Amino acid sequence: MPMREPYIVGIDLGATQLRFIAAKSKTGEIRKSGPEDKGKYFFPSPFKKMGEGFLIDNLLKKIPLHERTSVYLYEKLNIFLKKSALKKSQVKAIGISVPGRILPGNKFMGANTPFTYATKDRYGNYGIDVMGTIKREFKEIKIALDNDCNCAGLAQGLYYKSLGIDPHTTFYITISTGIGGGGPRRDLDEVGHIPVDGGFPGLIPRCGCGAYGCLEAYASGEGILNQALNILRLYREDKRMFKQFETYESMRLNKPLHLSEKILVSHLEREYSRGRQLSTKLIFRKAALDKEKTGFDPFARYLVETAAVRTAKIIVAISYIHGLERIGIGGSVALENPRYVELISAEVNRIFWKTPHILQREVKVELSPLGYYVNDYGALSLVLDHKDIDQWVATMKKLANTKNETFMTFGHKEI
Ligand SMILES: [Zn+2]
Repeated sequence: MPMREPYIVGIDLGATQLRFIAAKSKTGEIRKSGPEDKGKYFFPSPFKKMGEGFLIDNLLKKIPLHERTSVYLYEKLNIFLKKSALKKSQVKAIGISVPGRILPGNKFMGANTPFTYATKDRYGNYGIDVMGTIKREFKEIKIALDNDCNCAGLAQGLYYKSLGIDPHTTFYITISTGIGGGGPRRDLDEVGHIPVDGGFPGLIPRCGCGAYGCLEAYASGEGILNQALNILRLYREDKRMFKQFETYESMRLNKPLHLSEKILVSHLEREYSRGRQLSTKLIFRKAALDKEKTGFDPFARYLVETAAVRTAKIIVAISYIHGLERIGIGGSVALENPRYVELISAEVNRIFWKTPHILQREVKVELSPLGYYVNDYGALSLVLDHKDIDQWVATMKKLANTKNETFMTFGHKEI
């Protein structure tokens, strides 16, 4: 009987989805699916919000709480292998990416994961076991776990390395519902929760992590939308405080902003006053970044530009501290609005141009060269064989250059 082709399996545990990706271990070719195959590759995340609780609250009730997550992942892995006609013996390695911080003993904890399913270590850290059951059932193979943005940064770093760029100077940032980041050095994964200064005291947003004024609370997809809603609420309900806010913003930007005039003619304000729901998508469409100077909604443009400036400042700060020179930005907000990434890049350049100095020459900010594939290769990159890297990078390049519409349109939540 001919030997079956060996595969590497990537498991991407997200807040709403649990995704499986199988790639040929020699070449990195991914087993892709059309949207009709979605059931094969996508499962609900055990931490998907269900009313007040989580999906896993009502599953596997006979299993002890701290083992439930790892049993769930193992069960879904088996279903995936079966549906993909892959034998257990074909699986050469398994890489797992998780939305949170990695703790000793292959555990993790994220901003949106419940303590209920975690155990506490001797230092008081709560961690959830995700790979225990898989490790017991796949004894002989390599299994690794890391933060999802570090994984994406690792995959992106392989690509940059092939261009002659030291991967340790590269970094990946995702801008979608939230903001995260990671790189091959794996030393900075909570970039979205760096506090941002310069916010009007009456409008400092609360972040999902519990803190006030994080970059994510201002400049993620959800953050930009919340900013819009908070400002519009102030405009309609508290004219006096709005006036203070307007003055504050003009002082911050060192130029007259005329925010109330911008809001007066804003489509977003009209929608808001009619009780219609606003969305991040609408804000970006109305900001019309890819059109000429006229015809845009000035309030929407203000929102997007302000978010870009805040993001750029954090990028400059982390570039200094971590010696970064190349930043690839992914995530749905960036991928759907490439001009937004250009705006951030221009702002980063402006900061460097304004203050020439000896620390660093420049930081290049661009759309992640792996595009929508950066997450697929993330978990896989954790365990791929070093001798196969060249072949993998060639496959990644081919994929990133071919626009596969069916593949691009699913798995990326609209916000
Ligand atoms: Zn935060």
